Amino acid sequence: SRAALAGLHIDGLVIRFGGHTAVNRLTMHAPIGQVTGLIGPNGAGKSTTFNACSGSLTPAEGAIVFDGVDLTKAPESKRAHLGIGRTFQRIELFDSLSVAENVALGREARLAGVSPVTQLLPRRGERSLVTEAARRAMEQCGISDLATARAGRLSTGQRRLVELARALAGDFRLLLLDEPSSGLDHSESDAFTELLRQVVAENGIGILIVEHDMNVISGLCDYAYVLDFGQLIFEGVPAEVLSSDVVRKAYLGT
Ligand code: ADP
Ligand code: MG
Repeated sequence: SRAALAGLHIDGLVIRFGGHTAVNRLTMHAPIGQVTGLIGPNGAGKSTTFNACSGSLTPAEGAIVFDGVDLTKAPESKRAHLGIGRTFQRIELFDSLSVAENVALGREARLAGVSPVTQLLPRRGERSLVTEAARRAMEQCGISDLATARAGRLSTGQRRLVELARALAGDFRLLLLDEPSSGLDHSESDAFTELLRQVVAENGIGILIVEHDMNVISGLCDYAYVLDFGQLIFEGVPAEVLSSDVVRKAYLGT
């Protein structure tokens, strides 16, 4: 079963902000080698769940275990060292640095055990460092010819690719991608989906993805979990999610 596979295991997760319960007893798995979707309406608790996994907040209850190691209260650095990487709903790049420098920082951040990568400010003397990992990641994402371009000058679609390349350069085992295709047009989004499929197949990693577009979910995910008001309301393969009355109700409110 999926639960027996290596990867991320979230068990009975509860996250509260003051009196507000943002995530309520969530249990889910994100195995290595698969794409797992986390979907649900705005405010459902998806990004909050990611924050608990990457370590920027501590849950009130429950456990977060990665490859058998309990990370519930572990610092962010330990999670990065063990191979959990993430991207953010809002793109965070160093606009004054080149694409290659931004991507190389993903590698440095992993080595330094820093996650999120944006906490790692480029140090003097390292600015031009482009590791082999970064070169490969840019190539895989089709942005090698943008290597010397300043990140601040790129389109949203290009910035999303740089963000992904930076995460790939970190050589993480599991990537948490928070709405990575947000801001992309339809054809860019299709290409991005295809790229993610290739990445999982070629790099042998796992992806946990927050995504709104049901087409992306059905074309990409092996399995998906649906949150509404912090509650897990459905889980299953994409075909089951798409045909679920409970899920339709949560999205359309009918
Ligand atoms: P999603 O990513 O699914 O749209 P979030 O995880 O961002 O939703 O938010 C879930 C709920 O938690 C929302 O009601 C949101 O307002 C609340 N929330 C998120 N972060 C905080 C915070 N730092 N302080 C207080 N409330 C928060
Ligand atoms: Mg969110």
